[in-house]
Amino acid sequence: MIFWRTLIGKIKCYCGKCEIIVVANKALGSFLCGCQDCRQAVKWAEFKGGQKGEDLQHTIYVPSDILRVKGKENMKPFLLREGGQSIRVYCVTCFSLLGVDFPAYNDQRFMFIGGHCVTDIDTSMDPAIAINMVDYPKDKEPSLPDGITVVNSIHDPDRDWTQIPEVKKIRETPPSNKGIRFSELIKELGSPTILGFEPGGSVRK
Ligand SMILES: [Zn+2]
Ligand SMILES: [Zn+2]
Repeated sequence: MIFWRTLIGKIKCYCGKCEIIVVANKALGSFLCGCQDCRQAVKWAEFKGGQKGEDLQHTIYVPSDILRVKGKENMKPFLLREGGQSIRVYCVTCFSLLGVDFPAYNDQRFMFIGGHCVTDIDTSMDPAIAINMVDYPKDKEPSLPDGITVVNSIHDPDRDWTQIPEVKKIRETPPSNKGIRFSELIKELGSPTILGFEPGGSVRK
């Protein structure tokens, strides 16, 4: 017998008040990201009482296709600074980072960071590439998987990394359109709070 059912996955916060249900039980793929903004965002969450913010992030991509949201009253969007491009939605009770929108995601996908929310989505695939390693702290040695492709900056003119099959899958898989976009959820949550941090600066404000 064949059951036609929508495969779903949950992104939850650590305190349990917030939940985002997406149309996917497996991530599109993942990267490692050494950028200063991801790092600042998780270190701010740690400062606010959330999970420990590491230097290197495991960024996981899922379709921007949200069926249901619980605990919206506990969710708030934030920008690191005026003119910032990434909008990050946190649970403002436990400071789990529930999702990140970025213009290059084209409303097709959104991102969350491993260890900064709870999920039953399959995220077991190896990270496809390590990006923005130019931003990684100069006095530290990142622990990267053997043989992983390192992209100094996603803004580099060399775009060869976009042709790696695992990267193409992340960038080119359209959402099913069964649910709403992550950007629509952000709009429902109201204007982002601007934190006013300097790029790469301290989060203790
Ligand atoms: Zn929470
Ligand atoms: Zn990043």
